[in-house]
Order: sequence, then structure tokens, then C-alpha cells
Amino acid sequence: MPHSPEIARLLDGLNPAQGAAVMSEAMPLAILAGAGSGKTRVLTRRIAHRILADTANPSRMLALTFTRKAAGELTKRLGQLGVRERVATGTFHAIAFAQLRQWWADTNQPAPQLVESKMRLVAPLVHTRKSNAVQPVDVVSEIEWAKARLIRPENYAAAVSAIGRKPPLGVEAMAAIYTRYESEKKKRGIVDFDDLLVLCVQALETDREFAARQRWQFRHLFVDEFQDVNPAQYRLLEGWLGIEPDSEFAEGTFDLCVVGDPNQAIYAWNGADPRFLTQFSQRFGSAEVIRLDDNYRSTPQILTVADAVLGMGQRESRPLRANRPDGIVPTVTEYASDLDEARGIARAIRDRQSQRRPWSQFAVLTRTNAQALLFEEAFRAVAIPHRVRGGGMFLAQPEIKNALGELRRSPGNVPFASRIVDLDEMVAEALASGVTGAEGTNERAGNLEGLVRLANEFVGIDPTGTTSSFLQWIGGVITSRADEPDRSANLVEITTFHRAKGLEWPVVFVAGLERGYVPIGQADNQEAWDEERRLLYVAVTRAEQELHCSWAKTRTFGSRTTSRNRSPWLDNVDAARNASERPTDGDWRAQLRAIRDRAEAAKAAGVPGIRGTRNAHIQIGTNADPKVLEALKKWRAAKSRATGIPAFVIFHDTTLAAVAEAQPGSHAELLALPGVGSVKVERYGDEVIAVLAAHQASLTQAS
Ligand code: ATP
Ligand code: MG
Repeated sequence: MPHSPEIARLLDGLNPAQGAAVMSEAMPLAILAGAGSGKTRVLTRRIAHRILADTANPSRMLALTFTRKAAGELTKRLGQLGVRERVATGTFHAIAFAQLRQWWADTNQPAPQLVESKMRLVAPLVHTRKSNAVQPVDVVSEIEWAKARLIRPENYAAAVSAIGRKPPLGVEAMAAIYTRYESEKKKRGIVDFDDLLVLCVQALETDREFAARQRWQFRHLFVDEFQDVNPAQYRLLEGWLGIEPDSEFAEGTFDLCVVGDPNQAIYAWNGADPRFLTQFSQRFGSAEVIRLDDNYRSTPQILTVADAVLGMGQRESRPLRANRPDGIVPTVTEYASDLDEARGIARAIRDRQSQRRPWSQFAVLTRTNAQALLFEEAFRAVAIPHRVRGGGMFLAQPEIKNALGELRRSPGNVPFASRIVDLDEMVAEALASGVTGAEGTNERAGNLEGLVRLANEFVGIDPTGTTSSFLQWIGGVITSRADEPDRSANLVEITTFHRAKGLEWPVVFVAGLERGYVPIGQADNQEAWDEERRLLYVAVTRAEQELHCSWAKTRTFGSRTTSRNRSPWLDNVDAARNASERPTDGDWRAQLRAIRDRAEAAKAAGVPGIRGTRNAHIQIGTNADPKVLEALKKWRAAKSRATGIPAFVIFHDTTLAAVAEAQPGSHAELLALPGVGSVKVERYGDEVIAVLAAHQASLTQAS
């Protein structure tokens, strides 16, 4: 049957396997595929397809994600696909909270307050102990883990012993703190963020009318990044689907589509369990599982590194097939110190940034949040506009505080939807005020826009919600780990491996690849170690065109400077780099190597140095003589003016850098370079070689 034009358009830009995944009528459906294989693309198109084919009502659909950022991204992509209707998107917590609030209101129960700071509650419980060795933050995360695994305080000790888990302090002591934490909350009538999931499950299980209403409201469910679902979230999902608690196997149709990649499972430490994804077909009788093997994000050279990082025997699926053109071989740089690393990367970004390569195309990824600081300083010093993703800073911004204050002063019981226009006005005012920061970005307006997006998200989940409901909701959602600022501004992003999940940038710097960070020091067992490895896989697979890895030989913590060792996985990266550089017939890399070897030989023989040689750790183009590059750029600019052809079409910057570095002396040598085809050689070859020759002549004269 021929498709309608709209549906044909949806299938446009999908390969057959992706198309099949979009069109499949299976319920439930799981899509298991590697990084950059188009899972999120398929998920959004599938949602759009259901709407266009009229097999689902958009206002009854719910797309679940693990961060608000991801939820926003889904909404954006749906808009681009021409889906005008609002599809509810949100995190498990946000949806659960919205449903619970409704339930509390409908059943005349007082809504409990949310714990403002778990740390403040836990710290006194920890400090009554003699030992100061244990950090409250570790105890908090252990409690979070237990709650994610649906382990009650009374079962905690048994559960932990059964799996041989090592808590931050003795099992019994930990169980005691967990018990007291729970009773303390109960006493004060407050709940924490993780309780929301369990409370919502309980409401679904005990109040049939409530359950029926929620199942009617959201009856078509979609989940992205399903490898990171934890038992509490999964149980809630089952509750929404109407699956009996504790059932091992679900028979029948369930309108659920999940996508994920077991190789990117990085939240086991936090209670997630990728088996919900990998054993999907064992749980659902009628499940279909589709796999995708093509990668559309990264160059073959980056994928080779990614594959090596995962290592043989580690991966859960076949290696990905590359679909992008060849790119530069990823680099590994060793820096003398952490400061040098930050400055070196700042310089590298400055050098690469251009009109065609705006700041927003770069990201620096680190294993821990704290590593961001050095980069912030280094970037500030050389005026690189940047942003650190994450943190709970959003609500502390003055304009946000102000806006929420205004909402708070207004009547709380009116439908909140009518207030969004006021927020829009604040954005307009901020924009009109013209207060701009670095590179013309208006942070105030940007933050307020973030607030408007949140407001819309809230209204999508709860169309009749009131202003005070919104204020309560935002307080809960924002202080969560899911807090993610907007990404559209032209800034270099500094973020952690964890937060980078699902995202992509043309140029990615993965920094601090040292033991202690990668893998993290706490990883003292095989499972933790494997998770660290997958985490690095997530980091390197964010890169589209360039991947630059680095580590520092010394690092300063406070007043103490320590020497550091390379991450063991840098060996995998190096092996992959070597494989990418190994000569193969007709391969430009082989030819390039031949050129380099000749240059080396000439240099060794004392022939006046002309040809660039390459440092084994530095990528082609980065070693270019700036004078040569300048001469080539001048030529290109003149050519562009004369012909009306845009400069980057004549030769891309990276190509020009490669030319400047290799300094080819013939058409064949020029043709051997990445980004140079026969048409270009024919059109520009003689002139380029002439520019290089003129430069060499000037050198000879000078010496
Ligand atoms: P991750 O595992 O990192 O979340 P993913 O599998 O969700 O990755 P997407 O983000 O959906 O992958 O896609 C990766 C990139 O490839 C995106 O830029 C997307 O637009 C592009 N892409 C996906 N499929 C195709 C295709 N068939 N043709 C061209 N580009 C594609
Ligand atoms: Mg994705």
C-alpha cells in the first residue's frame, strides 16, 4: 500500500531496518542498538507515525526519558516532524509526581512536603557514629540505590549480603541509618524524591479508579535509554501498563515501545538494571525486538576507537557499521599537568573555532563534575564562551527566583496554563533589555526560556494544574538529578560522561583519562570496572567528526600535587589509532604515511626541512606550519572572491590544514589527502602546489 505523503516523509532519511522499526505493529516493541544508530530518531518518528496513521491519540501518549533535557529534545524533534499536537514527555519522577498530586487532591489527602536536602537529614544520623570515615553523601547514595532497587530498610541487610555488595559502612549500621532515615521522614510528614515512584505504584495498586484513570490518560508509552531503567521505575511502568505486581511474564498486548543500548548501561551504581532491556522478550510474550547495525553519527575512525574501548568480549552486540565519510584519526595527548591540559584544550578549541565551526560544536567531557572547574577557569582566561551542564543552579538564578516569586504572590488556585503568557512576557522583557553576556548570549532570557519550557512541560502533563501545583512540581523536578539547562546557545559545553549520554557534538575532547578517574577510584570490582568502561564508550561515541583524548601526568588537589597514570583504556584507544593508520592499498592514510616517511628520510639525510613530520600523537593538520596555512588561506580567499565559490567549498579548513602539514609536491600526493578529490586536484592542484613552492622558496632565501 502506498504511503500518504506525510508518512512517506517520515520514512525519508531512514534505512530499511529503521523504517521497519518505525512501522512495526508489534506491541510491545524493543529496539536494541548501539550508539548513534538512530534509536532516538526512530522513537520520535514512531511517535509521529502513530499520530499520522491515526493509531494513537497524541494526548494519550507519554514519552518517558531520564532527564528533562532528553524530554525537551524529544518535544523539539517531534515539532520538527510536523507533529503539532502536544505529546506529554517527562521523567518517571515528574510524571509520578504530577499524578500523585492529582490523587492527593482528589482523595482529600494532604500533599506531603518534599525533602529539601537528603544530606541535611542524613548527616546527623551518620555523625552520631564514632567513625568519621564515612561521608554522608555516600550514605545518601546508598539509600538511593536501595530505593531504586525497591529494597526496604528491613530487607536491606539480607539483600546486600545476597549480592555481595559492599556498603559505605557496615551492613548493619547502614541498615540502621536507612531505617532511621525512613522513620524520620515519616515523623515529619515529608517524602523524598525517590518515594514518589513507590507512592505512585502504591496508589495504582490500591486505588483502582485512580489506576484506571491514569491508564486511560496515558495509554501509549515510549521510553528512551531503556538500559538505564531501575526496578522502581520499571515497576511504575508496569503499573501504568496494568501488569500485575511480581509477575515474571506478561502475556498480551502492551502499547509500549522502548529503545536502548546495553553497551551504554551506566547507572547500575544507582540501581539501574539493563536486563529489563536485554531480557525484554523473556518478559513479554508478544514482544518484538529489532536491532540496528548502522551508525550515522561518527566517522569510521571514531567508531574504531569506540569499538576498541568496549573491547572484545565486553560488547553486547555486533560492532557498528560506519556511514560517515572518513575523518581524522582520534588523538591522544599527554599533558605535564592538569593545568596544562585545560589550557591546551582551551587553545585547541580557540584554534578550531570559526564561523563555520561555532562554539556550540565543541564539548569537553570529564568523568567527574569537579573537573569542570579547571576548564571554566581556562576558558574564562581566553574568553571562550562556555557552560557547565548540570548542577542545581537553575533555581538560584536571580531572574528565575524573581519569576517564581511573582508566581508565588499571584493567586495559587487559578489554572496555571493561563500564566504562561506572563512568563513569555518576562522573556521578551529580558531580550528587550539587551543585557548580553559573552558572544552576545542573553543568559537571563535563556534561563527564562528554560522556565517557559518547564511550564509547558507541566501543562502537558497536567493541563488543569494550578499555579501552586506548578510551583510545587518545579521545586521537586528541578532539585532532582534531572536538572538540565538549555543547549541551543552558542557555547562550548563542559559536562560529565554521564550527562553527555544521548547527545552529540562535532568535536569532542575527552579529558582526564587517568587511573582514578577512568576508571574511577571507587571501582574495585569487575562489575564496577565494566561500567566504567561502558562509560568511556558513551563519552567517545558522542563525537561526530573529531575526538581528542587527553590525560595529565600530574594533578593538583588542594595544595597536594600527585603524579598520575594513564587510563588503562588509552592502550585500546592507541591500538585503534594504529589500526586506523595502518597502510592499506588505495587508502589515503597509506599514501600519507608514504609522504611522511619520505619527509622523515629527507630530514634525517639533512635535506633542508620542508615537509612537515607528524608527532605520533597529533592528528594531521594540527601540526601545520601556521605560515604555510596562512599562505594557503590567503590564496583560498582570493580564489573565493574571484570565483564566487564559498571558501569552505574550495577547501575545508581541516583539508587546508592537512595540505599545509603534508605539503604535497604533486597531484598524486595532493589527492592522497583527506577531503581532496580528483575534481579539486584538477581544479586547484597546480595553484596549491605553486603556493607551497613559493613558501619553500621564501624559506630557502631566508636561510
Ligand atoms: P545514542 O545511543 O547515543 O542515544 P541514538 O541511537 O539515539 O544514539 P540518534 O541520536 O537517534 O542515535 O542518531 C544519531 C545521529 O545520526 C543523529 O544526528 C541522527 O539525526 C543521525 N541519523 C540517524 N539515522 C540516520 C539515517 N538513517 N540517515 C542519516 N542520519 C541519521
Ligand atoms: Mg539516543
